[in-house]
Amino acid sequence: MEKNIAVIKGDGIGPEIVNEAIKVMDKVAEKYGHKFNYTEVLMGGIAIDTVGVPLPQETIDKCLASDSVLLGAVGGPKWDKGEGKMRPEAGLLGIRGALKLFANIRPAKLLKPLASACPLKTDITDQGLDLVIVRELIGGAYFGEKKTYVNENGEKTASDLMIYSDHEIERICRVAFDMAKKRRGKVTSVDKANVLDSSRLWREVSHRVAAEYPDVEFSDMLVDNTAMQLVRNPAQFDVIVTENLFGDILSDEASMITGSLGMIPSASLGEGSLGLYEPIHGSAPDIAGQNKANPIATILSAAMMLRYSFDMGKEADAIEAAVDKALEAGLRTGDIMSEGMTLVSCSEMGDRIAGFID
Ligand code: NAD
Repeated sequence: MEKNIAVIKGDGIGPEIVNEAIKVMDKVAEKYGHKFNYTEVLMGGIAIDTVGVPLPQETIDKCLASDSVLLGAVGGPKWDKGEGKMRPEAGLLGIRGALKLFANIRPAKLLKPLASACPLKTDITDQGLDLVIVRELIGGAYFGEKKTYVNENGEKTASDLMIYSDHEIERICRVAFDMAKKRRGKVTSVDKANVLDSSRLWREVSHRVAAEYPDVEFSDMLVDNTAMQLVRNPAQFDVIVTENLFGDILSDEASMITGSLGMIPSASLGEGSLGLYEPIHGSAPDIAGQNKANPIATILSAAMMLRYSFDMGKEADAIEAAVDKALEAGLRTGDIMSEGMTLVSCSEMGDRIAGFID
């Protein structure tokens, strides 16, 4: 199979980690008889410096014309003082909207070789930790009307409108239920229906969709309780579905209990097969350019691309197995290093994982 992939390396450690993911994908292509063509496009701080905007139209056009998009990370202190629309993060929100990617999928799984990096007590982690957060990505407070103004008392005031319509809730719930059917068959819908109107609509629509999936176990949970349950008893969760702001916070919490930011991939999907695949961490400016970054989250994001956009399940399995083998062999980048393990650089980790592809 031949596939065209738009590549956004971005800022900070972005180029280093994306290069390692490409190394591993090329090994997969060689072993399984595929051809991956890469087109590099600009987004984030580097796009601001080069063409004056965080998300050039050319980038959107090339991403839309590709089969899928691989992203490193964007942002850094150099661009922190820019106004909202001129910040690298505006590129991230913009590309998700332009590609109509409404579902963000983040797995959080505790890998055995990294169990010691988990901050939870072993009596909790012994129960297992393998969940997926399905987060609505282009609605809610991040995309609702924003206002900063001076109120009638002369005081500076700001507001962000949290807004959801029926179809936006329905389509994200369907993603969650379809995913649960391929996993352990359980969906927890997270909201704040005791306070928010948008959450009451969320609850109404999610129950309607749930009725179409009688084989999936379904329950609601308030977001504050979910934040607590994730550290108290994470084994109870299979698929969590929630709106944009709650999902942003809960998915970071879920990632942290698995050990390291450098390990967690993500996929953002829309109606078709085009997706955006990226690690959940940022551009790590503190270690950029030093060949120290952990490329595993980006390599696992590439595996998700093969699985969800290209329907290459075997190839995705091969990447995930190669990552497991590298960890079982004791190879560690600095962020996941522990006593008795072998410290490797970003590029060595990529080389070794590529070497384990079979
Ligand atoms: P960060 O995720 O970049 O870094 C947090 C800490 O984790 C740092 O100590 C960093 O060195 C470490 N870290 C992160 N990824 C790592 C990896 N792969 N290997 C080893 N260590 C890793 O978060 P931050 O410092 O809050 O943000 C830095 C910049 O990234 C900011 O400009 C922020 O806006 C941006 N950001 C971008 C994205 C994105 O592109 N999707 C996401 C989050 C933050």
